[in-house]
Amino acid sequence: MSSSAHPPGTQRPAAQRIGLFGGTFDPPHVGHLVTAVNVRHALDLDVVILMVNNVPWQKEGSRQITPAADRLAMVAAAVDDVAQLVTGRTEIDHGGHSFTADTLQTLAQEYPGAELFTIVGDDAAAGLHTWTRYDEVVQQSRLVVVDRPGDPVDLPDGVDWIRVEVPRLEVSSTDLRARFVDGRPLDYLVTEPVLDVIVQRGLYGARPDLAGADRS
Ligand code: ATP
Ligand code: MG
Repeated sequence: MSSSAHPPGTQRPAAQRIGLFGGTFDPPHVGHLVTAVNVRHALDLDVVILMVNNVPWQKEGSRQITPAADRLAMVAAAVDDVAQLVTGRTEIDHGGHSFTADTLQTLAQEYPGAELFTIVGDDAAAGLHTWTRYDEVVQQSRLVVVDRPGDPVDLPDGVDWIRVEVPRLEVSSTDLRARFVDGRPLDYLVTEPVLDVIVQRGLYGARPDLAGADRS
């Protein structure tokens, strides 16, 4: 949000502890939301930004990625009624490849003096050293890792992680996309407003009759 959104003479609300939770969110699911709200609570963050990657370079070429505008709409629907979770569009506005180091720089300018926290699942954390300018990510923010179900993942050495326990939900966007293909139910794995966006926009080849148990 630009500062012009605040009437003259008023200041933007101070948000001193900002969580950056980036992802492809293709689609966003309850694992993302449970993580975001629990990390927000555990670390007393003012806000957690679900930052929608524009072009997730590490996934490029491996599969078809849903257009950024559609993923943004799904995330907006997911966080719409959730206090202190917001949709981030910095990376989409920036265009091109998405790098967390750049995003943190933008956030540092938008929220001067704020303490930034980069939130990742342990699968993403394990690959931190492959991130572009990861040293900047480590310098500019505190790293927060949550465990996902499955075998424990080795975290890169020499990084000061904050580990936050959240309910481990064995749900992934990959599994959800597969569910769309073969018609298994999605109920309770994504929220209703997200399902509505998926159906309205015809994402994942969704058919209204597959999108929920009783949507009449
Ligand atoms: P995909 O299967 O397409 O990779 P995903 O479910 O892993 O999708 P991403 O958008 O890749 O979702 O993940 C964004 C962030 O959310 C990453 O840091 C990832 O580790 C984390 N994350 C994803 N699913 C969960 C989950 N169930 N519990 C905790 N963290 C999760
Ligand atoms: Mg993933």
